[in-house]
Amino acid sequence: MTDVTLALRRIHERIAAAKADSGRESCDIRLVAVSKTHAPAIIERALAAGQRDFGENYLQEAVGKIRALAGHGARWHFIGRIQSNKTADIAQHFDWVQTVDRERVARRLDSARGAGLEPLNVCLQIRLADDPNRPGVAPQELPALAASVERLPRLRLRGLMCMPPLQAEAGASARHFDTTREHYERLRAAGHALDTLSMGTTGDLEAAVAAGSTMIRVGTAIFGVRQRR
Ligand SMILES: *Cc1c(COP(=O)(O)O)cnc(C)c1O
Repeated sequence: MTDVTLALRRIHERIAAAKADSGRESCDIRLVAVSKTHAPAIIERALAAGQRDFGENYLQEAVGKIRALAGHGARWHFIGRIQSNKTADIAQHFDWVQTVDRERVARRLDSARGAGLEPLNVCLQIRLADDPNRPGVAPQELPALAASVERLPRLRLRGLMCMPPLQAEAGASARHFDTTREHYERLRAAGHALDTLSMGTTGDLEAAVAAGSTMIRVGTAIFGVRQRR
């Protein structure tokens, strides 16, 4: 068994234990392996171990890997900051975008998504810290953004994503996860058919599962410490 195979097995065990602890045994939780900075050969080991979903943050680097691994059955999730002049590459190469936070970007992704491809799966990134320099849409603007994404034919709105600020204070992530879950339920109650709550990483996946996460994004615990870019 390779290191990556073993690491994936350990993550699945952590997820299973977290599900059991929070009474969510029957829920499906998808694992996205965050492969930013790691080489295609390492990603291939994860593919060989049955991992299908991969997350990438840096567009140029990602497009090279997506091309190199074409035909291997990987699903690619863009989880980095979106520059609005780079939306065409994202729309052409990825299956999911989890960091949509403004209408202009959504419209550009929609018009660049090829007609021959499935609609692009979208999560809106919510901004929980009251800091305009952090990425994400402010909670009060979520309903309007969700409504405009829903109207775009080449996008499929799937849910919300959150990335709590790095901070030492225990329990801070858990509060962010609970708040994200509340906004997710509110959008569903308003009629949006959402099925994805993307939250939880190497350090806080247990808290995310307890708060209702359906998609965990893990990098370090699978691929090791990130390479310098
Ligand atoms: C890098 C990254 C992750 C993975 O974080 P780890 O701590 O390495 O598991 C998850 N989500 C986003 C948005 C990231 O940028």
